[in-house]
Amino acid sequence: MIRTSLLDFDLEGLVAYCASLGEKRFRAVQLFRWIHQRGQADFATMSDLAKPLRDKLGAAAEVKPLPVLSEQASADGTVKWLFDVGNGDAVETVFIPEADRGTLCVSSQAGCAVGCRFCSTGHQGFSRNLDTGEIVAQLWFAEHALRRRLASTTRVISNVVLMGMGEPLQNYAALLPALRVMLDDHGYGLSRRRVTVSTSGVVPMIGRLQADCPVALAVSLHAPNDALRDQLVPLNRKYPLAELLLACRSYPEAAPRDFITFEYCMLDGVNDSPAQARELAELVTGQSGLLAVSCKLNLIPFNPFPASGLLCSPRERVLAFAKVLQNAGIVTTVRKTRGDDIAAACGQLAGEVQDRTRVDQRMARQAIRIQPVDAL
Ligand code: SAH
Ligand code: SF4
Repeated sequence: MIRTSLLDFDLEGLVAYCASLGEKRFRAVQLFRWIHQRGQADFATMSDLAKPLRDKLGAAAEVKPLPVLSEQASADGTVKWLFDVGNGDAVETVFIPEADRGTLCVSSQAGCAVGCRFCSTGHQGFSRNLDTGEIVAQLWFAEHALRRRLASTTRVISNVVLMGMGEPLQNYAALLPALRVMLDDHGYGLSRRRVTVSTSGVVPMIGRLQADCPVALAVSLHAPNDALRDQLVPLNRKYPLAELLLACRSYPEAAPRDFITFEYCMLDGVNDSPAQARELAELVTGQSGLLAVSCKLNLIPFNPFPASGLLCSPRERVLAFAKVLQNAGIVTTVRKTRGDDIAAACGQLAGEVQDRTRVDQRMARQAIRIQPVDAL
């Protein structure tokens, strides 16, 4: 018998499921709180639920954790879990503790279909979408495992970023209920600004997210013009920069005090020249008038992996690039890399997972060469 997986439901979904068992709304709220706030998977111990309901749930439903394939802890406190999602696929989840927050980096797909040149998940190819329960299970497991480990009676994870494996906006149907579980006061109670969806630019879905659940938005830019972005982020050929920036400009309408974060991965000799910094500054402050809706630029040092054939920009270049943007009045930060010793930094999340689709070979065959800066 296939049991109903309760991690698949946001609160309204659980209310509907409980109604199908003849139970009232407040029972669903109790159950939701047991699962997400207390990390309880065993219905028998949910003491304020009536015995007949506990029995019904025990017979028909489950709170199913993802099997943990491995767990690694870095010297800097970063923890990385590799979860088995079946059929030889695995996804990674990373916890990054900082003085004032605890951030969980969550995966949304096994692999990714976008195929960015500088991303090891992209090189792995696309396997499948995670379902809502598999997205939520990463947070459910991490929050309660860490709470037990740190003997904490309060919440450990204060922020969630959808920056693990996959393109979240290409798995929107599963993502939306998962976001609702994260935000729900009876669930994890995270504020809208502390949950960030990072996208490579699935333009139509940016509008949907704005309408349905306007969490913080991060947009992976990586290039100041279409010619280069077409090569680095293939989705740009479908949704070019002008359309992407237009979608970004209207995003904060739903939340005027919010800002959009632009991510820019620094690739040696590819996108890191002073001229490109000026072009980028013009792109975000110029015609598009984006500064009218605050934005922030986050420069990410590239985490190299052999198949990419790319290198990280030297530190001085990153700093010089940042300076140009700052001088143009754009709030610019350089991201610290964390968890280097356990390959938990961005883009390294698929390290041990097999390449099922031979995307690497395809990419090599396409022989699209990334032009050195001066040749562009
Ligand atoms: N698919 C989404 C979210 C996952 S990737 C997106 O692309 O935004 C999260 C971030 O890590 C993105 O900004 C991505 O560009 C960046 N990234 C991917 N590979 C990287 C690498 N090798 N080094 C540094 N950053 C990388
Ligand atoms: Fe997919 Fe994001 Fe990696 Fe691009 S950077 S391949 S969109 S996960």
